Amino acid sequence: MQTKQLKLDPERIDGELIAEAAEVIRRGCLVVFPTETVYGLGADATNEDAVKDIFRAKGRPGDNPLIIHVASPDEAAKYTETCELYYRIAEAFMPGPITVILPSRDNIPLATRAGLPTVAVRCPENKIARALISAAGVPIAAPSANLSGSPSPTSFKHVVDDMNGRCDVIIDGGDCDFGLESTIVKIDGDGAVTLLRPGRITVGDLESIGITVRVADAVVDKLGEGEVALSPGMKYRHYAPGAELILLEGSREACARYIKGVGKERVALISHTDDVEYYKGELPTVIIYDFGLRGDMAAQAHRLFSILRSADKEDFDLILAPLPEKDGIGLALYNRMIRAAAHKIIRL
Ligand code: AMP
Ligand code: MG
Repeated sequence: MQTKQLKLDPERIDGELIAEAAEVIRRGCLVVFPTETVYGLGADATNEDAVKDIFRAKGRPGDNPLIIHVASPDEAAKYTETCELYYRIAEAFMPGPITVILPSRDNIPLATRAGLPTVAVRCPENKIARALISAAGVPIAAPSANLSGSPSPTSFKHVVDDMNGRCDVIIDGGDCDFGLESTIVKIDGDGAVTLLRPGRITVGDLESIGITVRVADAVVDKLGEGEVALSPGMKYRHYAPGAELILLEGSREACARYIKGVGKERVALISHTDDVEYYKGELPTVIIYDFGLRGDMAAQAHRLFSILRSADKEDFDLILAPLPEKDGIGLALYNRMIRAAAHKIIRL
């Protein structure tokens, strides 16, 4: 398949190029577009054939439902049964990186929601994304625009690596602001939500508007044998790098000692900026990736998938990374990193 690339400046959106991409969506074809979280592989969410093509292009298991993207929070009412709590969340955080699970209406095909009675809705804040959804006039179903199993793409180059030749259009809108996928919550009906996936909108953000948040076990722990995931995506080991990834908890001295004795040849270390010089002195043969300052969770969120993709291109035997704290945005990093590491944590 021939993939057309369209370059768009989010600050000066070219209406003709948006109209061209929107027409491709309306024809039932696939368009990759940027959002503030990661790039999405989009198709008309109401067109079953188009949605099936998304699953094919990514190699995504058919039982892992898609998020539908709408141009304004109110549009959700056309496709789902909204409720008071939804509007409270929308008022505070939309457009923005939060997805809400609601009962679906019949106009969303079962293929989009993997046979579930519910559907996930999000209204992104990225200007290109919103212009595209508005111009298309239909909700856009879009999972992350990576091949299933590789890290979500946060730059145009990542998308081209995974999706060139697999979709009709790729919009180049530069790097994604945040770099981790949206927060996902399920409304429980009693003024509370269950957090299914942590993201930039944190537990504290939700609590600040009076919402009780229950964190689903699978956000921080391994699913038990035979346990059913509240969100089908939770059971998949996403973002898995080719090399073994292990998360370390401990002082930099303890980490350096551990790495010296690890007995592997090609070792990479993801290090906070604060410790890069120290590790370079102690571990001259180890390749070091700069993760951002220890306290700068936004920088680390922005870099994580990019670092994992770069590391994947090298033939490392082992990649080591610091175990993040679980508070604020740290919970989103923790969730992605324990899954990439298949829950391998060493406490030193
Ligand atoms: P992605 O689009 O790749 O960021 O993944 C979307 C995530 O949303 C997956 O983990 C899905 O399992 C989850 N999801 C989508 N729809 C639903 C739903 N109706 N109920 C629960 N989880 C959902
Ligand atoms: Mg994904």
